[in-house]
Amino acid sequence: MKFDLMGTIHLTTSTEAIPPVKIFDNMAIIGSAGTNCVVIETSEGLILLDAMWPGKLWEDMIEDGLKSLGYNPADIKILLISHGHPDHSGCGRHFIEKYGAVPYMSKVDYEFEKEFCAQANNPDWYFDFTVENFLDEGDVLTLGDTDIMCFSTPGHTPGGLSFILKVYDQGRPHMAALWGGSAPPPQLEANYQYLRSLDHFIEMCRKYHVDADFMNHPILNNGVERMAVMRNRIDQVANPFVIGEEGYIRFTGLYRQLAEDNIAAGCVDYTK
Ligand SMILES: [Zn+2]
Repeated sequence: MKFDLMGTIHLTTSTEAIPPVKIFDNMAIIGSAGTNCVVIETSEGLILLDAMWPGKLWEDMIEDGLKSLGYNPADIKILLISHGHPDHSGCGRHFIEKYGAVPYMSKVDYEFEKEFCAQANNPDWYFDFTVENFLDEGDVLTLGDTDIMCFSTPGHTPGGLSFILKVYDQGRPHMAALWGGSAPPPQLEANYQYLRSLDHFIEMCRKYHVDADFMNHPILNNGVERMAVMRNRIDQVANPFVIGEEGYIRFTGLYRQLAEDNIAAGCVDYTK
């Protein structure tokens, strides 16, 4: 099946929660079919990777999701934002002010989102908190026993970050990756940048033997279906998020195809 980005992009605003689930011993997914956040469990508390859209509906979705998984929202120590778009930074202020989460993102995307994305008169596009801790290529974000390797992968946004970290499945270690941006951007040069970033990230995934994936837009990797498997998984059945080293590289072909199709189509603005 060829992926039809235009045909499914409206799903990114889907507000219907999918039941949260742990996809690894130390990682859980909370969100809707369109956009999700990621909970990473460490020996010193939780990292919330992305914060979905702004608003109470999303705040409640995250808090209720955390509680249903047995987590305490007050244990969120770090808010890590993959890139400067409102469907990833939305609830940030809530978790910073209510629970003291410390936000991290790239400086480029912090400036980008403040200047070009935030809309003071549009509650769906609020970006209303301050970030003082910035991450860039090669940085490692550490909390307790967990290291998250950060890679600068501009394209989807000018300062998007992608991540690699160790996860465990029934105690067995794997290396999991998140391609932090998603749809290719509307500007031609940014599409070429997106492809260069993808090449760089693939190199890093090979270097660190990435063999598992996770997501912040489940529509792009059959995430919803795989979460359903994890909710009902028989212990002896393989974890569908563990896809093997070559499997991960093959999966990145989706993003290459999206960018190449977008260039051929004259560069579509999928954010509209
Ligand atoms: Zn985005």
